[in-house]
Amino acid sequence: MSYLVFARKWRPQTFSEVAAQEHITVTLQNAIASGRAGHAYLFSGPRGVGKTTTARILAKGLNCEKGPTPDPCLVCPSCLQITAGTHLDVLEIDGASNRGIDEIRDLREKARYAAAGGGYKVYIIDEVHMLTKEAFNALLKTLEEPPEKVVFIFATTEPRKVPATILSRCQRFDFRRIPFRVMADYISTEAAGEGITVSRDALGLVCRASGGSMRDALSLMDQLVSFAGRDITSETVSKLLGLVESDLLAGIARAILTANPSTALDLLEEASLRGYSIEEFNEAFSLFVRNMMLAATGAEKGIVDLSEGEMDLVRSCVAGVPDIAVLNVLRIMAAASAQIREGADPRITIEGALLTASRLSSVFDLSHLPQVKVSPPAAAVPREEAASIEITTAVAPPAATPLPEGSQTEIPRAAQGPDDSKRVRENEDIKEIAGLFDLIPEPGGEGVRGEP
Ligand SMILES: [Zn+2]
Repeated sequence: MSYLVFARKWRPQTFSEVAAQEHITVTLQNAIASGRAGHAYLFSGPRGVGKTTTARILAKGLNCEKGPTPDPCLVCPSCLQITAGTHLDVLEIDGASNRGIDEIRDLREKARYAAAGGGYKVYIIDEVHMLTKEAFNALLKTLEEPPEKVVFIFATTEPRKVPATILSRCQRFDFRRIPFRVMADYISTEAAGEGITVSRDALGLVCRASGGSMRDALSLMDQLVSFAGRDITSETVSKLLGLVESDLLAGIARAILTANPSTALDLLEEASLRGYSIEEFNEAFSLFVRNMMLAATGAEKGIVDLSEGEMDLVRSCVAGVPDIAVLNVLRIMAAASAQIREGADPRITIEGALLTASRLSSVFDLSHLPQVKVSPPAAAVPREEAASIEITTAVAPPAATPLPEGSQTEIPRAAQGPDDSKRVRENEDIKEIAGLFDLIPEPGGEGVRGEP
């Protein structure tokens, strides 16, 4: 099925249809209404948020037969020609492919002559930052003495690359990323109108993947419809984008925090069976753990663009977990990422990191979590008695298996059990592994960095 439902339909024709840029569209409408349109505008902002669209609407507003008007009629020959891209006096120039001085000189020459239709000449230069230095200089001369009824609209994703001399002669408008909610509302309304079902989680993934670009979100929706038909689930989106599904990430996080390294590694294998690369997994998991940390510390405001379903998953992973435990997992994953960047084998590093993180969780008392595997001997002892064993063994370790010097005070509570010598050895192993990741946990709860 080939469908271009979304991208083609989303072509705002009036200022009020431009999503989420009211701070700009209202100002432009007022300028036209009061006859104070500028000679040069700089529209900056991320791709796909409405810069060129707004430029075309401005051109229509200036050249509409009913205008200049803040509400172009859209049906007069001038409006229709601008929509079709055939208007003789409204020229769109791609700054990336017309970046030289000759093109700009040519443009300057033509700008001297009055518009054929008696209205405004509008030059829309997209990706203006791509122009050469000489081209900018040529342009500057025109901007210094702008011809009557000529309007330049420069669009750029990188305003910092535009020379200050040019910037100072432009009215600058910074376009925003389209907020998640606005985008989600728009897409779900359009989808419903077309009889396409999009699950909330799928919608969340689409909006997040678009990075705030409406154009990207809509072309992604078109791809999804071609790929999966009229029923779009988060699984479909994940497959198309190579995103690792949240439930898988949550499963791994829970396995780690409940000291189930084998489950964590099984799920990593599952991710790879589903076609995700280790790099994709690492990126997604690190982000997931970051969100967990924010949730654990009550700083949920920092979590952006998660659907309610995903947010619930994140919260469920940290319920009852000390934030320091989550922080340590985050640090282990960050250390693993750094090692991979330095050339370590990604798969081995990530497996090692998951294992380390799982083992470290035993340092914290997480035994109350539902999925924890409590080792039988410890479980047989009531909690208060376990505490007394801790004191006893610390004072008098079995003579046959002397503890390493100074280790008594370092045995964390959760590692206590009848076979203390084994526990101590495990604890030392954990510290050794943790040392590899530049991370030594303190049983008291504070994580401290080890010596490099
Ligand atoms: Zn018109």
